[in-house]
Amino acid sequence: MKKIIIANWKMHKLRKEAVDFVENLSAQKEVDIAIIPSFLALRDLKNAAPKEIAIGSQNMSEHSHGAFTGEISASMLKDVGADFVMLGHSERRKIFLESNDVITKKVERAVVENMPFVLCVGETLDERELGETKEVISVMLDALSALIGSHWDLVTIAYEPVWAIGSGKVATPDIISEVHNYIREKLLEFTPEKGEGIRILYGGSVKSDNIAEILSIDNVDGALVGGASLDPLSFNQLINEVSI
Ligand code: PEP
Repeated sequence: MKKIIIANWKMHKLRKEAVDFVENLSAQKEVDIAIIPSFLALRDLKNAAPKEIAIGSQNMSEHSHGAFTGEISASMLKDVGADFVMLGHSERRKIFLESNDVITKKVERAVVENMPFVLCVGETLDERELGETKEVISVMLDALSALIGSHWDLVTIAYEPVWAIGSGKVATPDIISEVHNYIREKLLEFTPEKGEGIRILYGGSVKSDNIAEILSIDNVDGALVGGASLDPLSFNQLINEVSI
């Protein structure tokens, strides 16, 4: 399966900075690239980026439309060119208190709207130390319970241990391997036909000096990159490591 590197820019970069970034990005054939900018840079980035680079949104309402002040719907995202949405990032779960129930509704909305999505799952340090990692991830993956048939083509999973995000503490290859294998097993339980073809990405302090090792682990089909995706030089370097 072709690997993918997704840049999550969080609340960084104005529109011009986003466009300048993409204009300096080296084209790649060996790896798929996607960028998740702020909502407000989506359209500019979509217009500026080569068509091979997918552009995603950092969040999406579970509702189709209506009196939900401050929210953004799937059709609004499509209207500005978003190719996919990221759901359940740990910062949404922790800071904005998005529960598994809400994230499940967002997944269901993405399915109804035929919007490809990356579902982020991962344990906190406390959960890991209590031996609850698999249980926590299994509950998060239950957001996919309603999916059937061709809906599975919409799905990408990102394993992002919360303790590794922005901390400089990358998970060990053993941890990544154990959790990715577990996620693959769960996906195969959900969908024996499509489970093998669903990408499972790793995220958490990925940089140019660890990306090659991480991507060489079985069942790691790409990476979700925060901090190291902000600077065009370090992002280009990271992508070059994958393409070697
Ligand atoms: C993220 O926020 O999804 C992430 C992986 O961040 P970082 O690469 O900075 O750990």
